[in-house]
Amino acid sequence: MSVRHQVTDDVLTAYATGDLPEAFNLVVASHVSLCDEARVRLETMEALGGAVLDDLSGESMSYGSFEATMRLISERPKEAIKAEVVRKSCDVLPGPLMDYVGGNLDDINWRPLGMGAKQVILKSSLEANVRLLYIPSGAAMPDHGHTGIEMTLVLQGAFIDGDERFARGDIEIANEELEHTPIADIGEDCICLAATNAPLKFSGLLPRIAQPFLRI
Ligand code: ZN
Repeated sequence: MSVRHQVTDDVLTAYATGDLPEAFNLVVASHVSLCDEARVRLETMEALGGAVLDDLSGESMSYGSFEATMRLISERPKEAIKAEVVRKSCDVLPGPLMDYVGGNLDDINWRPLGMGAKQVILKSSLEANVRLLYIPSGAAMPDHGHTGIEMTLVLQGAFIDGDERFARGDIEIANEELEHTPIADIGEDCICLAATNAPLKFSGLLPRIAQPFLRI
């Protein structure tokens, strides 16, 4: 499937070159496994990167080799790639996330956050945190700003942020400029994978008090 809100080129480039912290890497790998278009963009990027490396190693990159690269990309059997992804994912968790948690949704050890919401913090390197969030349909996240980057990937249900709706496979990338109050869409409880490299800035007193305990 292709999704409406895709990863940006600069983040995809950092992913392709292995420059993302582990937490963000997991979010982007999961997004790419759910979005055919992002996967094609990534493959194109990697193929072009390979062609540039060939060029740097002394071979001149002629138009012919660029053409050959593009032909290789377009000839790559997409069905085979898709089958690989489908085989490894359960209904909610995409393949890279299943590998990471070593199981599926039933194996998640949720911790309550209050009001029916829950989370589980996944192990990752110190540069950034990554967690699974479960937000009941219709519930709002506390209003907050960001002191770094926040990447949120929807795995089940959807959330509304301002005028935008984010559904399964969609990724939202927030930075210091954005303050928001995402609301889980009605109809189905929302499950997201969210990574941050700096604490959120909550405007309400209660979330601020709870913040150190929730490590958010
Ligand atoms: Zn946010």
